[in-house]
Amino acid sequence: MAEGQDKAIEANDNNDHLVQSSDPEHPANLIPDLCRRFYKWGWVTGTGGGTSIRRGEHIFIAPSGVQKEMIQPHNIFVLRYPTPKYPPSARKYIRKPLDLRPSACTPLFLAAFDRGAGCCIHTHSQWAVLVTLLVEREKGKDGYFEINNIEQIKGIPKGKDKGMLGYHDTLRIPIIENTAFEEDLTESLEISMDQHPDTYAVLVRRHGIYVWGDTVAKAKTQCESLDYLFQLAVEMHKLGIPWT
Ligand SMILES: [Zn+2]
Repeated sequence: MAEGQDKAIEANDNNDHLVQSSDPEHPANLIPDLCRRFYKWGWVTGTGGGTSIRRGEHIFIAPSGVQKEMIQPHNIFVLRYPTPKYPPSARKYIRKPLDLRPSACTPLFLAAFDRGAGCCIHTHSQWAVLVTLLVEREKGKDGYFEINNIEQIKGIPKGKDKGMLGYHDTLRIPIIENTAFEEDLTESLEISMDQHPDTYAVLVRRHGIYVWGDTVAKAKTQCESLDYLFQLAVEMHKLGIPWT
């Protein structure tokens, strides 16, 4: 990090205590740790993708345009978010690193937090992108990603308080069309979330996926299970094996 950037961060005492903790489970420590893992897995290459965690009335957000494997706790933004019933005007940044911008995914993460999520993950996984292309070619733009009779489906919930999908259930993930700017996805993501209240993920064509969960562990394991299923589905398709 450049010396000037270090000084800018030192001078920024806007609630720095919110991102300083020796607890590895604190969101300001977890987000950099998760981003390093996701970078290694090819989910957030080239600064794409992101992660956000809600703890109480605080939402912790990774910065925009920063190499995901290099993010540090002092790079994290904190948004005051009283509860979903408060109007968006009640939400405001109470910690902003001076030299950074919050993730362009922020309005999309908020859509998941408004629906009760505790953590939201956005990846640019190639497997996610490939299944959106295969679905478009095979079923058209209105098609869903659907797969069944695969053990790993049991890692995905049926819906809020409905338990997990069973081996014979069909996992169904909606797909929305990409836009030139990430924040312009917000409206179609919210419409898709409202149309599919049981889903914990929405794919974005030619772009990636948004996955959320009640907790950090659930969001992460659901994202892992989905990525496993997407990779498997691409390989099955190559071998001419149907997904359902
Ligand atoms: Zn993205």
